[in-house]
Amino acid sequence: MKLVHRILARISIVVLLGAVSNSWAAGQIKAIVGATAVDLANGHSIPNSVLLIDGDRIMAIGPAGAVSVPQGADIIHADGKWLLPGLMNMHVHLGLKLPGAAGDSLSNETDVEEVLRMAGNARLSLLSGVTTLRLVGEDHGTDFALRRAIESGEVMGPRIKTAGEVIVPTGGHGSLEADGPYGFAHVVREQIKQGADWIKIAVSGGISDSHGSISAAPMTDEEMSTLIEVAHRNGIKVTAHNGSSEAAHQALKFGIDCFEHGYHLDMAVLKEMKVKGVWLVPTIVVTQPGALEFYRKIGSPPWYLERVKSTGIDHWAMLQNAIRLGINIALGTDQFPFEPNDGTTATIAEAELYVAAGMTPLQALRAAMVNPAQLIGMEKDLGGLESGKYADVIAVSADPLQNIRALRTIGFVMKGGTVVRNDWTAKAD
Ligand SMILES: [Zn+2]
Repeated sequence: MKLVHRILARISIVVLLGAVSNSWAAGQIKAIVGATAVDLANGHSIPNSVLLIDGDRIMAIGPAGAVSVPQGADIIHADGKWLLPGLMNMHVHLGLKLPGAAGDSLSNETDVEEVLRMAGNARLSLLSGVTTLRLVGEDHGTDFALRRAIESGEVMGPRIKTAGEVIVPTGGHGSLEADGPYGFAHVVREQIKQGADWIKIAVSGGISDSHGSISAAPMTDEEMSTLIEVAHRNGIKVTAHNGSSEAAHQALKFGIDCFEHGYHLDMAVLKEMKVKGVWLVPTIVVTQPGALEFYRKIGSPPWYLERVKSTGIDHWAMLQNAIRLGINIALGTDQFPFEPNDGTTATIAEAELYVAAGMTPLQALRAAMVNPAQLIGMEKDLGGLESGKYADVIAVSADPLQNIRALRTIGFVMKGGTVVRNDWTAKAD
């Protein structure tokens, strides 16, 4: 707790001093020394590494003999640890409410209450090692307010890219309903005007719907093509909540960029995704046994648990096929990034399931830390321990290239050069 107080004290000083804090941060070079730095570009590691951080970016990285620590640097000792880039979770709803007792208790929540709850969830996400996340469906602009507050340093949380509200044909699995090609064009433009980095549509039903079919394709060709065209003309990518192969073919025809979940996608769809370089964010964790603990906790009704179980069988086979075909995969959970799952967090359980489904540990680490940077177009700034990139760094106590379960031992988290968690120092105090 002492560490947390110190962090809070430091954060409040930074906030109070405003502009002064920038020069203070820029003047202080930090050096993480003694750890093995994992290079996810090639799967090689640098034992006894030196990682230099200037302000919010990595200044240099290399073996101790090649990179020297400048005098006066703030030294962080990390002997016996492995350094990795921060985790990136590409399918998150920080204001998540699901059917069941816990969701029911939030039914009268105001937007103001919701954004505060989301801020708490953002803070816990960051402390769990997730330094970047993509929101794929929040309410009434709460996500834009939260993103601003995090960027200005008022609230502690991961870097955020957000898709605003989920756009759907009337009666669909989402909150922002539209009909007809110009109806869809309008809501897309409206979301982009408010600040959406992405557009999220739902082209089939969801597990949590009590009506509608998960395998239907309810949008017309004109609606789908206009929506995607308007987003692309604004330089914005489109992702689709989708469990249906029929809807997937239609979306692929008109240039969709990414699919979420992909519960029932067949081989023909997966092959077309591979050819077109379309992304998959699997969220496999929500349909596998590790999530049952969560569904029981929130009081999910029996019909929901049944749907999860039956969907899980197809979902797992789809993931195995996607990995075998070498489709672009970026990690996402559809649960809070820090949600307990199978004895760890949902984010880490998701990465472990990728290995169980056929990835090597290196491939799973890349899906969790490198590929997402490409998905959100931030590959110059994020996705590796390389000079010039943001200093988003986590440390673990075992070699993650040998065993993905090493991620369970995260004890250090840095975002943009600021240490937000250091369990090992805290113990030594
Ligand atoms: Zn979702």
